Amino acid sequence: DSVADQVYPAAVILTVDTPKTGGVNVGAWLAVSFAPCSEVMPSCSDNIPDYDALIIGAGLSGMYQLHVLREQGFRAHVLEAGSGVGGTWYWNRYPGARFDSESWSYGYSFSAELLEEWDWSEHFAGQPEVERYCNHVADKFDLRRDISFSTRVAWARFEEESCSWRVGTAAGREFRARFLVTAIGLLSAPTMPRFEGVESFSGQWAHTGLWPKEGINFDGKRVAVIGTGASGVQTIQEVAKSAARLTVFQRRPNWCTPLHNGPISEAEMDAIRTRYDEIFELCKQTTACFVHSVDSRGTFEVTPEEREAFWEERYAGQGFGIWQGNFRDMLKDREANQMMSAFVADKIRARVNDPATAELLIPKDHGFGTRRVPQETHYYEVYNQPNVELVSMLEAPIERVTPTGLRTRDRDYAFDVIIYATGFDAVTGSFDRIDFRGAGDVTLKDKWAEGPRTLVGVMVDQFPNLFMIMGPHAALGNNPRSIEYNVEWVRDCLVHARSTGAQRLEAKAEAVEAWANFVHEKAQGLLSNEIDSWMTGVNMNVAGRKHRRLVRYAGTAPEYRARCDAIAAGGYEELQQS
Ligand code: NAP
Repeated sequence: DSVADQVYPAAVILTVDTPKTGGVNVGAWLAVSFAPCSEVMPSCSDNIPDYDALIIGAGLSGMYQLHVLREQGFRAHVLEAGSGVGGTWYWNRYPGARFDSESWSYGYSFSAELLEEWDWSEHFAGQPEVERYCNHVADKFDLRRDISFSTRVAWARFEEESCSWRVGTAAGREFRARFLVTAIGLLSAPTMPRFEGVESFSGQWAHTGLWPKEGINFDGKRVAVIGTGASGVQTIQEVAKSAARLTVFQRRPNWCTPLHNGPISEAEMDAIRTRYDEIFELCKQTTACFVHSVDSRGTFEVTPEEREAFWEERYAGQGFGIWQGNFRDMLKDREANQMMSAFVADKIRARVNDPATAELLIPKDHGFGTRRVPQETHYYEVYNQPNVELVSMLEAPIERVTPTGLRTRDRDYAFDVIIYATGFDAVTGSFDRIDFRGAGDVTLKDKWAEGPRTLVGVMVDQFPNLFMIMGPHAALGNNPRSIEYNVEWVRDCLVHARSTGAQRLEAKAEAVEAWANFVHEKAQGLLSNEIDSWMTGVNMNVAGRKHRRLVRYAGTAPEYRARCDAIAAGGYEELQQS
């Protein structure tokens, strides 16, 4: 059997990974592998499984990273906390979870065969379908044989002597690799409100981002949903269909706009298939890799009638067109933003029967698009149902969870189920959960205490041989598009290291500084900078997350890729290579 398909402890690798053993089967593998750490440091022949690259996470990033590294002949292995693949789409199985990007723009683009054989059933696919897709990809590319499931990484330490990462799991297992790639997502550390009594509740409760696999039945139940971000909105729409009573606890409302989902017929899917090249090319050009392009006109460069007609068309259109495809000044010009907000506020008033409820649902503290816009399907109409009640936590904050439900400042509520749609410690939270220690034992948490700083969101100075997919200050948006780009960038960097014989790659501090400056420059003038949200690094449920930080790259994806391409084309001069 091919040696490359097997996992060998370091001591075994040493016996085959020498030029003298270059037989046919192992030849290709020998030619491509890095010297195992046991060669660099003999004392490290300690039976710890040793790889060229370890990848943390088997979501869309980790799966593709594994695939491309294996294609290049690297010995790569994935450590995944869940029992299945999918990452976000594995954990977020809450009712109503679905894409906010068009399905056909979200799937992987790297395999023509995959594009050819996979049919999306809806323009915005639901979580079960997306999870099926992830499993299909894992099977098609035979990924599972190189994934350790139910394996949660607890710590990762760079060992200077062997020039490798030693990685430990919560269960006490250890692994080692020359390179470590994090594929841990930017919204994967769920946060609970710091209410007293959460554990005392005698009914069922769950966080949307850690939804139980067996699901929760709402038929005839009294259900509370806390939180009205993108997850809360999707959950509320769905739960309202079957719960006997649904009480929504809203702190600050968000501007939600219609998703306009619909089924994809066979003929439509065939037509989409013929346009895949065009679709992915368009995603390459747009600001955040969606299929929606910013309108080049300014809000005040058109007549009031044209403006109204344009917004009506966007409101009637699918997906993020109204956010990502609006007038070019909508997210920067205060007056333009206020006009747009007034347009959406009127839509909410027209859709909600009770004027007092409508006013509660209209944001007053931020303008349209300055926080992430939840996409909805009859969300506002839910509040016209007799079984649904909206409680404003700004007026009556929750004081505690009781054994039978929730107590607000005003009264006690009895519930059978409480759903926490309270979000994530975004961007850096998933890193904080792992004790990363770089050169000189510096911790990543300390390094980022004042906010994350990276080289193009992929590398960090003092953390040699560590790569991040979807790391802080990388391009976001329609994420798989950026994931594919980043994964391939990392692959090319490792191929470069192999060809030059470099064992140690580290971002230069001045290159990190330059990227941080660029990220700051690109964020200038955005109204969203003035607003608390996960996009500005604020999460009141987490100690130390009260102040706004620049956690997000706000330039365009094409600019981002141009910078990354330039690093590669220049022979990775931004990295110390030895
Ligand atoms: P979120 O946007 O951070 O929303 C969390 C909600 O919980 C907010 O309404 C927040 O209120 C409320 N909340 C948090 N702590 C609270 C507390 N202690 N007391 C009362 N209310 C509290 O989180 P999310 O909805 O999970 O979405 C996060 C991101 O995930 C989205 O922005 C999106 O990028 C992604 N997402 C994507 C999809 C998709 O593509 N289909 C679906 C879901 C989520 P405040 O606003 O007052 O803080």
